[in-house]
Parts: sequence; C-alpha cells; structure tokens
Amino acid sequence: MHAPRRKSCQALLPDGETPCSATFRGWGKYCTPHLEECARLSGQYKDAAARVERLRRTGELSEKQVRAISTASLVDRAIGKVRQYLDALNEEDRARRALLGRFPAERDERHEQRLTIIEERKAACSPLIAQLQQHREEIVANTQQRRERCRDTSQGDPERQPLLDRQRRSRPVWIILCVLLLVVVPTAFMVVVLPSIGR
Ligand SMILES: [Zn+2]
Repeated sequence: MHAPRRKSCQALLPDGETPCSATFRGWGKYCTPHLEECARLSGQYKDAAARVERLRRTGELSEKQVRAISTASLVDRAIGKVRQYLDALNEEDRARRALLGRFPAERDERHEQRLTIIEERKAACSPLIAQLQQHREEIVANTQQRRERCRDTSQGDPERQPLLDRQRRSRPVWIILCVLLLVVVPTAFMVVVLPSIGR
C-alpha cells in the first residue's frame, strides 16, 4: 500500500501571484487552510448570486413596466430597487473574482459564463435608471400641466362656479332630512303611538 504522494497546494497567496509553498497528502487541490479559505470564498459568491436572483424581478424592468409606473414616489422606489440589484451584481462580481484570483484552479466555463452574464446585467442597470428618471420627469411635468389646466378652467369658466356652489349648498338639506328621519320620526312614534298602546 502506497500512501498518496505529496502534492503542492494550488492556491495563490493574497498577492495573487505567489504560489502557496505547502505540500499535503490527499486528493484535493489545496492545503487545509486554503481548502477552508476556498470554501469560505465560494460561500460568499454563492450568497451574492442568490441575492442577485432574488432582486432580479425588480431590478430588470421592461419598457412597458416602466411606463406602467404611475407616480413619482413609485418611480423613486423602483430606482432604489434597481440600485440594490446593481449592488448585488457588483458584490457577486467581486466575490467570484476574489475566489478566482486566489484559486485559479477553480476557473472554468461556468464561472466565465456567469461573469459575462453579470457584466451584461450590470451594463443594463444605468440605462434603466436613466429611463426611470426620464419617466419621473414626465410624470412631474404632466401633474404640473394638469394642475394648471384645472386652475385655468375653475377661474376661466364662470358657468362652473355657481354649479359647484349649488352642489355644496344642497348638502345641508340632505343632512336635515336624515336627522328628521332618524330622530324626529322615532320620537314622534314613542310620544304619540306608544302611550296609546299602553292604554
Ligand atoms: Zn496552501
């Protein structure tokens, strides 16, 4: 029986250039401390990737979805969500590159593909934020216009004013009718009808 031969660790030191000088017996690629570090860095990029996917629904919006947002404050919230998504993408990018910088043996097609996807998604965030800001300006301008139009019609159209006044004046009449129905009628009933039943 031969013990597995000693192998040299394939990790790089934090400078990203100097190979680890440790040797070890076993089937892995790294000495024990570097095996642990590799696992830690892998955990970081996986957490970041999970966050990216969680935030994707509100971080990527179609033109139709942007146009459907109806108020400035909702646009602000949407911009905040896109920024959160961009933060998560940056974090995943950083974590993956940190891992590959120290553990080049981990570099494979899967990482390359994902880094390309991250790059594309990051690139889409700034135009989306710009589009949302543009949409926000349009909402503000429209609201302003509508307000001005309302003011103009209420001042410029003398016919409308008396109508509004009449509507406002008719409200007390209804209140008096309701009070009559709810208070006066039952009271009259108790005063007039009940004693006659008792007799
Ligand atoms: Zn090592």
